[in-house]
Amino acid sequence: MSGDARRERAAHIRELLRTEGDNVSENVGTFNEGRYRRYAEMDDVDELRAEARAIKEDAIERLPDLIEQLRETVEGNGGTVYLADDAADANEYVQSVATDIDAGTAVKSKSMTSEEIEVNDALAEVGVDTYETDLAEFVLQLDDEEPSHIVAPAVHRSREDIAELFERRFDLDEPLETAEELTTFASDYLEERVAEADIGMTGANFVTADTGTLALVTNEGNARKCAVAPETHVAVAGVEKILPSLADLPPFLELIGPAGAGQDVTAYLSLLTPPVDTPAIDFDAPDTPGFGDPDERDFHLVLIDNGRMEMRADDDLRETLYCVRCGACANSCANFQQVGGHAFGGETYSGGIATGWEAGVHGEESAAEFNDLCTGCSRCVDACPVNIDIPWINTVVRDRLNRNDDPDAFDHLVEGLTPDAEPGGMDLGKRLFGNFETLAAVGSMTAPLSNAVGDSRPVRAALERVVGVDRRRDLPRFRRETFRDWFEARDADGPDDPARSVALYPDVYTNYVRPERGKAAVRLLEALGVDVVVPDAGGSGRAPLSQGMIATARDRAEAVRDVLTPDIAAGRDVVAVEPSDLAMFRGEYERLLPESDAERLADNSYEVLEYAYGLLENDADAAALAGPEAAETPRAAAEHGVAYHSHCQQRTLGLEAHTVAVLEAAGYDVVTSDVECCGMAGSFGYKTEYYDLSEAVGDELREQFTDADAADRLLLASGTSCLDQMDSLFERRGYHPVRLLDPAGDPGSGA
Ligand code: SF4
Repeated sequence: MSGDARRERAAHIRELLRTEGDNVSENVGTFNEGRYRRYAEMDDVDELRAEARAIKEDAIERLPDLIEQLRETVEGNGGTVYLADDAADANEYVQSVATDIDAGTAVKSKSMTSEEIEVNDALAEVGVDTYETDLAEFVLQLDDEEPSHIVAPAVHRSREDIAELFERRFDLDEPLETAEELTTFASDYLEERVAEADIGMTGANFVTADTGTLALVTNEGNARKCAVAPETHVAVAGVEKILPSLADLPPFLELIGPAGAGQDVTAYLSLLTPPVDTPAIDFDAPDTPGFGDPDERDFHLVLIDNGRMEMRADDDLRETLYCVRCGACANSCANFQQVGGHAFGGETYSGGIATGWEAGVHGEESAAEFNDLCTGCSRCVDACPVNIDIPWINTVVRDRLNRNDDPDAFDHLVEGLTPDAEPGGMDLGKRLFGNFETLAAVGSMTAPLSNAVGDSRPVRAALERVVGVDRRRDLPRFRRETFRDWFEARDADGPDDPARSVALYPDVYTNYVRPERGKAAVRLLEALGVDVVVPDAGGSGRAPLSQGMIATARDRAEAVRDVLTPDIAAGRDVVAVEPSDLAMFRGEYERLLPESDAERLADNSYEVLEYAYGLLENDADAAALAGPEAAETPRAAAEHGVAYHSHCQQRTLGLEAHTVAVLEAAGYDVVTSDVECCGMAGSFGYKTEYYDLSEAVGDELREQFTDADAADRLLLASGTSCLDQMDSLFERRGYHPVRLLDPAGDPGSGA
């Protein structure tokens, strides 16, 4: 990305933060609270999610057969099925239906698939005026605006600006103010459009192959009006919406309301098996309403491929087709919460899974603009009702985009300096962040000179201009003595009769930037009766993976496996200090290594305080841990208790509670943040185009830890990027929790 493009992007994001950020935050915040509550209340939520995923996996596997079965069923019911190759093909078919009946108007219930093919424009070409009947879609149509959310398209708008829009667009006797007044006005207006429409268009949340039933899940009931009021009903649905049978619906219907908008259930569930046999009402005779001929009812199901069958054949994009379009991934995304879908916007889809959809239906280029907004924090995976690995899809698309860059571009010098497996022409900034390990090794070898050079204004200016590292962000301070150097030179024996033996993984930050936390981890584990070795392992591949450099990440993963496998074979557990590296071992390695290697590492790896928790549960003595009575810095600063922010990947792994439990066992009074993301998310917050967004995400953490209950507490975080962000957000510095528990009481010369 050029400097100009970065500045432009940064300005666009600042503008969205200013104009839409508050509305988006408030609205998706409500959805999220509801989802948390409902997921917690549902005893069987994990079983339902697994069941839903299994049904989708099976349906996509058998898709060609299900399409044929559905065709036979719908035609047997008296309807028509048209399988459209792409948007143009689908639109031509819908146009032909409209011209056949000489249609003048159509009413439409919200459907992202019809947005995807832009059917309104196609109908306008043949003289049909189309009215959106979903209130939010109606608002956007009035203002000629794009949706900013899959299920809540007007999530970025407030009641006040909708009132102002109605005032501008309609000849109102008096201004509309309350939500009720606005809704009543819109529904009266739209009811007239429904009554006069020649065609009703809907999407379909699900279509069942055995009965030809459309399941429509809505909150306004307008879908059923569109489906049954006009004589002609056209439903458009992506082929992935097909489920084998009506009996497959229950898990989806139970999950979609809680996942999407945090509702107990959605207000309307319509199961229609068209063409329905009730006669259409004759609205032309309002005083003596008559009924049309039921035989005149006409139903067309337009099944849309538009890239989906290619996605099905693509091992990495196939999961996208399991998506039920609930929007939970967007709601759970910290960046989306600040700027909404217009920052993410591809041609149709926005937020979370949108990269997969855009890459599949519109091509990878259309996903390029917003793909970088995924920080890989993995919170969306927890939110998704069908357990889709959304960050992986984003990573794969990022990798493909990298490879589409100009391979002949002149960067041989960079290629020579960067020991990665990537092609020429890649964005220099990504390449720099992806090769952070090399930079850290050189920085450590030449410290403190490297730190002084890194601080100089001309170097900061050049870094910002050439590779987009924002000059407002403090750079990591490299340490001359690495963690491994310290361990090897150390003159100390471990416990006499160790209960366990571990290989403490020296991640790049612990080794070159924050060795104190590694030292503290060694002493803590030894105090709990564990023998510790520190293997000569390099980076886990997290840095290149976050830049979409999958081949390089795979190289790193293989190297780590080669080093750690003998330790595991010798009976040692692997302990990681950095949660994002543990998340690699337990998650992404299954994509990068042979299954048995990945499983071995995943099964034998632990986060350091998860491991300490396990030891305490198995009779290790908590008195060995340092508590708040200790006088040394930083523990002395904990006299008012500690405020702990858990790392996002650590939360996805379910490990926050372990750290809190160990801190409490040592006697600390702990409060925790419920902010899902600090905003830094690895290299993301260093990038000049995203610096303001990173700070905006961090604001919530700043507020929480400066309020009365937390203002005097010592700040703690487990993730490196969280600690970096805390240094930027607070005047107080933050520490890794192992520093407080370190029985040797290292006097705190680093975080
Ligand atoms: S990926 Fe999952 S969370 Fe996101 S919209 Fe699809 S189903 Fe919902």
